[in-house]
Amino acid sequence: MMSTKIALVGIGKIARDQHVPSIEASPDWELAATVSRHGTVDGVEAFTDMDTLLDARRDIEVISLCLPPVPRFAYASSALKAGRHVMLEKPPGATLAECHTLGAMAKRAGVSIYSTWHSREAARVGAAKEWLKNKRLRSLKVVWKEDVRRWHPGQEWIWDPGGLGIFDPGINALSIVTEILPDPVHLTKAVLEFPENRGTPIAASLDFAHPHGAEMSAVFDWRQDGDQIWTIEAETDEGTLVLSEGGATLSIDGEIHAGKDTDGNPLHGEYPRLYARMAELVRTGGTDMDLAPMIHVADAFLLGHRVAVEPFDW
Ligand code: NAP
Repeated sequence: MMSTKIALVGIGKIARDQHVPSIEASPDWELAATVSRHGTVDGVEAFTDMDTLLDARRDIEVISLCLPPVPRFAYASSALKAGRHVMLEKPPGATLAECHTLGAMAKRAGVSIYSTWHSREAARVGAAKEWLKNKRLRSLKVVWKEDVRRWHPGQEWIWDPGGLGIFDPGINALSIVTEILPDPVHLTKAVLEFPENRGTPIAASLDFAHPHGAEMSAVFDWRQDGDQIWTIEAETDEGTLVLSEGGATLSIDGEIHAGKDTDGNPLHGEYPRLYARMAELVRTGGTDMDLAPMIHVADAFLLGHRVAVEPFDW
């Protein structure tokens, strides 16, 4: 099978950590070019401007965008106008309306668009979804607490409007919740804690309404020292499921089903699975643009009660 040429746009932290190694390890793809104002990848043709790439490399069919959400729309719309398939890092845009616009543009152009949610590809998310399928949910509690200085060192964009603040990791939790729950839920209350010198929240607590009356809440916090916590606990009429380590580990009534091989490595990395899915979408002419996680985040900003907390500095 021939590999498909792909260009990677926004060579920063996640491009280097995950996208480049996943593309290079896959027979589906050839990393043919990059677009980034400063970043490059050794041995790969580098552009600093999107339109120049689109003009110069008509052989590149797929564009994968891994820059922050606010600047992403301009790049994505140029790629779609030029008839290229597009893969989007999470969140798929800075606003819901622009995501809908991108979806409609892809449809008109007859190309694939994929709004990726990497946490949905964590090793035990599929098993959790399967287990919850026919059970009656009594309660669901999400705790997502991490240290922003450790995971986002020096990234100023996360504090600017559109950068999402704590919802940058929180949307990962919501992407898992919206994947594993059989029923749709909606937000009923949000408290957002904004550092008084920043434009996005550092912590949030959310309540949701569930169609069968299960209690549902989420707590997100970027001020976590020590152990980092990425846990979803679902109590049902037939036992309690806990997804921890961001979906890598599953326990049911205390019995652990780790998503790791015998050397302790995670099973099937998240990003290789995203790129396998993109290859399938391109092959079959498909589109995958689920905006459910982002709807809850937008609703939190719509409904959220704002509390000012102490300033944040790196
Ligand atoms: P990043 O390193 O801060 O930014 C990625 C690159 O985007 C930068 O190196 C920069 O490259 C380019 N860029 C930044 N601002 C730009 C602007 N205003 N206009 C044009 N290009 C700009 O961010 P990241 O951590 O990789 O995150 C990027 C996306 O991936 C986010 O949506 C994030 O939620 C998602 N993500 C991140 C992680 C993670 O662990 N960091 C994990 C999963 C998903 P140039 O200066 O070379 O143009």
